[in-house]
Amino acid sequence: MCAPLRVEARALRRGLAAAHDTGGAHVVRTGYGPVRAAAAAARIAAADSQAVAVGGVAGALTDDLRVGDLVVATDVMAADGSALATTVGCPSAPLLAGELRRAGLSVRTGPLATVAHLVRHGQHAALAAAGAIAVDMESAPLLAGAAGRPAVVLRAISDTPAHRLVSPRTVTGGLAALRSLREAAPVLARWAAAAGPRQVLLASPRSFCAGVERAIEIVELALEQHGAPVYVRKQIVHNATVVAELEQAGAIFVDELSEVPDGANVVFSAHGVAPEVRQEAARRGLEPIDATCPLVAKVHAEARRYAADGYLVALIGHAGHEETEGTMGEAPGAMALVENPADVAGLQPADPAKVAYLMQTTLAADEASAVVDAITERFPAATGPGTADICYATTNRQQAVRAIAARSDLVLVAGSANSSNSVRLVETAQRAGTRAYLVDSAEDIQLGWLAGASSIGIAAGASAPPAIVGQIVAALGGLGEVTTEEVVVATESVQFGLPKELRRADDRAVLSRKTVSP
Ligand code: SF4
Repeated sequence: MCAPLRVEARALRRGLAAAHDTGGAHVVRTGYGPVRAAAAAARIAAADSQAVAVGGVAGALTDDLRVGDLVVATDVMAADGSALATTVGCPSAPLLAGELRRAGLSVRTGPLATVAHLVRHGQHAALAAAGAIAVDMESAPLLAGAAGRPAVVLRAISDTPAHRLVSPRTVTGGLAALRSLREAAPVLARWAAAAGPRQVLLASPRSFCAGVERAIEIVELALEQHGAPVYVRKQIVHNATVVAELEQAGAIFVDELSEVPDGANVVFSAHGVAPEVRQEAARRGLEPIDATCPLVAKVHAEARRYAADGYLVALIGHAGHEETEGTMGEAPGAMALVENPADVAGLQPADPAKVAYLMQTTLAADEASAVVDAITERFPAATGPGTADICYATTNRQQAVRAIAARSDLVLVAGSANSSNSVRLVETAQRAGTRAYLVDSAEDIQLGWLAGASSIGIAAGASAPPAIVGQIVAALGGLGEVTTEEVVVATESVQFGLPKELRRADDRAVLSRKTVSP
């Protein structure tokens, strides 16, 4: 760890002294200003350290930073006057920032500027306009000393636009900044312990399925054709990033139709809705646009058919999930939810010869099979689709995660906690005997998971954007050289057509699509 000033080095050393395990991290005082930093960089470049962390204080350039806040640099820009000349990226910044937040510290990520002289009045605004959120005088030259090794820059804010320091000596007045540095030191040690080269196995297929792509496109087209706001009942797909991006574009997500103004457009999510929701929309004069995945709609149709033929329909699925609520709503008097084999004992059909079963599309096949076995054992005449209701995307992603888990020390699954198929991927990897965790973004990855993991598998649920996987790979690349391998178990070409409400107004979209029967 490099710290320019004596007080900064002391803060980091005190923090390390309080850590349980420093992983061999030690603090080097590098001196104040760019000239001393450049000299120190030459020494750092010759040292045999595995990784380089630059720590110290900095001045804030934006009004939302407060004294004591930590800044993790995503990029470090060397400034020539108020112009920013060169930029060096710090790809593992999200990993460090996430770990600092979990440690209870206030953290911002963003570009940091390094200047050659104390910043004078007016320069702050110019640097901020160039995108920098904080400024110091040493990070850029010190980063050069990393010479290709993993590197991060962590600065604690000692002065802000509203309260400027007048001299570097008054840094001792930035007690809050030094306290934050001290508290951050054990986290920096964990970052260093996680550094190292890795193999990354990418599960394929991963990320968006045809139903999710269609649902997102439906909201985008609705916004394009009708203008904002467009109301969406429930999350269009279960992913926090997707929902946040659509909210930014003008979508308003609501839990119930009562929150939608009369006469407004409302999109039904990919998970489907019960008939009573459609009836309420019609009563209210709403303009519904149905983004229900055609594969979910297929299960709804099976439920209606079995119920009309006098069957008791056991729906294998998870209580409280929007998809099971929608499917159960097709024939509430003729359906029973079965979550596990034990629940089968509670089924009470009028005629034991007329029992059918269906299932949620995003279940794990092995779990669902255990419930099907319990049903057919108790009701030998029971009829159903086997595990065919589990959609192609869920099946393919589970096979892919199994393939990478067998060769990985750790599996990371991109997806949100409320995404059923993403959670099933984690469980599938864990059942294969591999540590596995669900992450919404690179910031969710705990550094302790990575220590000692030289082979990491990455999968992504059907609702997780592909960009998240790219961000995770890039962040791991900031910890050391990464070699990636695609582990392909299937290729997918399924596409679904758009609902009729959007077709007429957007022929382009229709023409660009090929509808494939599931
Ligand atoms: S996971 Fe399967 S059922 Fe769900 S939206 Fe995707 S394709 Fe449709």
